[in-house]
Amino acid sequence: MKRKRVVLLGATGSIGDSTLKVAQDIPERMEIVGLAANSNASKLAVAANKTRAPAICLVDERKMEVLRSKLEYEPRILVGEAGLCEIAKLEDADMVLIAIVGTAGLHPALDAIETGKDLAVASKEILVMAGEAVTSAAQRRGVKILPVDSEHNAIFQCLDGRPSEVRRIILTASGGPFRETRASELGRVTVEDALKHPTWNMGPKITIDSATLFNKGLEMIEAHWLFNVGMDRVEVVIHPQSIVHSMVEFADGSTLAQLSYSNMCFPIQYAVTWPDRVPNTLPPLDFSTLSKLEFFPPRYDDFPALNLARRAGETGGTLPAVMNAANEVAVAAFLNRQLRFPQIWQTVAQVMDRHQAVAHPDLDAILAADKWAREEARRVVGK
Ligand code: NAD
Ligand code: MG
Repeated sequence: MKRKRVVLLGATGSIGDSTLKVAQDIPERMEIVGLAANSNASKLAVAANKTRAPAICLVDERKMEVLRSKLEYEPRILVGEAGLCEIAKLEDADMVLIAIVGTAGLHPALDAIETGKDLAVASKEILVMAGEAVTSAAQRRGVKILPVDSEHNAIFQCLDGRPSEVRRIILTASGGPFRETRASELGRVTVEDALKHPTWNMGPKITIDSATLFNKGLEMIEAHWLFNVGMDRVEVVIHPQSIVHSMVEFADGSTLAQLSYSNMCFPIQYAVTWPDRVPNTLPPLDFSTLSKLEFFPPRYDDFPALNLARRAGETGGTLPAVMNAANEVAVAAFLNRQLRFPQIWQTVAQVMDRHQAVAHPDLDAILAADKWAREEARRVVGK
């Protein structure tokens, strides 16, 4: 069996950590041939020394000296945003795994597709902003898009190549730290409260998104593009235990689900080894300690992110990119203590209301909408 040669973009983040663990766990099936990160040069050097990746990229040039001083071998070194696109096109690679937070993964994703590499996508922003452009480019080039986001990886496993027989896709959501918080209390929650995710350990941006439920909203749009199903067939159910990672209801009324502990190594490994399943050291479920799995409808009125995302997905065009960008600015402002928690969705709603969506946007139109939304959101935050 051939080892998959993987380029990992976002090597120093939470998904990056898990991906490096998977590579260590299944060395006969996976080889890291490229690593890229934004600015954490020391951590990138540690990962590089361990994997001996032949190519590495640091986006932030100012940290280059730190990187060079810590490297124990001589890889090819790339730098800046141009370097990020370059490493995504690396000749001796089969797959590019995108685990960059925010929108910086979009260009390298398109470059990877154009050079015929399969894409493993953790960065949901890419599909939310440019779902049509990315999926049609992949189809044109005949490359696969393999979902790493746990819900979409679960759906991918359940579908098992039978997309036409789907009735509903049911995304599970933990409900975040405020699942049981009264609406009247949400204005008083702190950054520290919001960063305490009950079941997953993730980067700060996605952790806040899990608390507002924007994460699930982004994932609804992500599912729509990945699996080519209408937004009206993508639903959300709250499942506090995060054991069922998502479900598919088929035409005959049967529902399939994928279960495992909440550890991103499971979906990362499957994206890399698909269509095979290979042994690893991850713990399987212990049903003697799993006493209950609960499911509840979401509190749509108290967490408006889901309805905003449904509207964005249904309208399509540039509106999802606008929602995503406004949310990024609002989350950053919340983390900076410039906004209260409910002001995150209030900001996003205001920016979305002011946007004139452009249908079937090309990359330039998407990036223009993204830029406009960031400026608008900053204006709203500044008030
Ligand atoms: P993180 O904040 O822990 O790490 C972000 C990574 O992105 C870092 O390696 C950083 O160097 C890199 N990065 C940031 N800006 C960059 C830029 N301009 N150019 C190049 N690299 C840049 O984030 P994370 O939690 O690992 O999440 C990464 C992506 O995966 C996000 O899109 C997130 O929504 C998605 N995701 C994460 C999880 C999870 O469990 N953490 C689960 C599902 C999906
Ligand atoms: Mg997810």
